[in-house]
Amino acid sequence: MKPKKARKLIYFLYIIGFILILLSYKRIMFLPIGVIVAGSSVVPNLLFYKCPHCGKHLGSNGGDFCQYCGKSIDN
Ligand SMILES: [Zn+2]
Repeated sequence: MKPKKARKLIYFLYIIGFILILLSYKRIMFLPIGVIVAGSSVVPNLLFYKCPHCGKHLGSNGGDFCQYCGKSIDN
């Protein structure tokens, strides 16, 4: 999986988890599900959100270039 795709997946899981946590005021069972969904975004983050060139983890980098080697993370 490419880093940009992984980033989309991470954001997607965060947003779904956040929405579920917000919905927990209606049904409390949404709260643990939301926490699990948001927490599961850690998995693609750790596994796939790496620079394809130097292999370092991109951390909170939201840009198009690796902060370690300066190369594009697109390819
Ligand atoms: Zn790099």
